[in-house]
Amino acid sequence: MVKAVAIKLLTLAAIAAALWLAPAPLSWVLAGVALAAGLGVIGWAVFNVNSGIWARTLWRGDGDDKRVALTFDDGPDPVFTPKILRVLADKKVPAAFFCVGQRVEQNPELAKQIHDQGHLVGNHSFHHGMWINFSLHRTLRREIDRCNAAVAAAAGITPALYRPPHGFKNPALGDVLRERGMAVIGWQVRGFDAVVNDAARITTRVVDGARPGGVITLHDGAGLQGSPDRSATVAALPVIIDGLRARGFRFVRLDELLAIRAYK
Ligand SMILES: [Zn+2]
Repeated sequence: MVKAVAIKLLTLAAIAAALWLAPAPLSWVLAGVALAAGLGVIGWAVFNVNSGIWARTLWRGDGDDKRVALTFDDGPDPVFTPKILRVLADKKVPAAFFCVGQRVEQNPELAKQIHDQGHLVGNHSFHHGMWINFSLHRTLRREIDRCNAAVAAAAGITPALYRPPHGFKNPALGDVLRERGMAVIGWQVRGFDAVVNDAARITTRVVDGARPGGVITLHDGAGLQGSPDRSATVAALPVIIDGLRARGFRFVRLDELLAIRAYK
């Protein structure tokens, strides 16, 4: 929150200085530039999942090393999560699952299975609400704490990593995560598999787009938009794994890639 206030004050100071010091009409042009710059910084901080202005945000490991980490959002889903887990077991690939708290409450055995099979469980809020990223401290604390409590009840672990639904962040989220000692996980490349129901397009996007150290985002559950059918992700996953291995990439778990603690 402190940074948000600072950005607003700086913007207002720059506008005032422009209007005060420069002759018209130059003063109006400079004031407009200052306003646009201030709004630009705030927009980038809110809408870019990898911006670190509000909260500690990680999205890429060491770029010298051809390692990548798979992440899945929006589960656990009783139909698609087991299929994803089977592919990961067949291919011996570790992954991270950013789970929605209420879905963990509905499918606690799946959350436990994810953990028991050596994958990481992260926090993706309790409700995955459409407007969660416009919420303030009280709602965000409740969303994050309820999801962590659901994961703890199901699997006996308390996540320290959070992925904001839709990838947006606000200054209040930064405060809440600092209080909780948690970090945000962004992504280097995503399959857009929550909206594109086409295995070939998802595969091409990820295999061509992944860079050394990259965090890859896919979905094992239904988000709020698009189809709840994740068959395309299930079909794409083995091809993505083989394709990236053919490019010389090695899969490691997210916390190993980023050298960060997964749980409290
Ligand atoms: Zn999501």
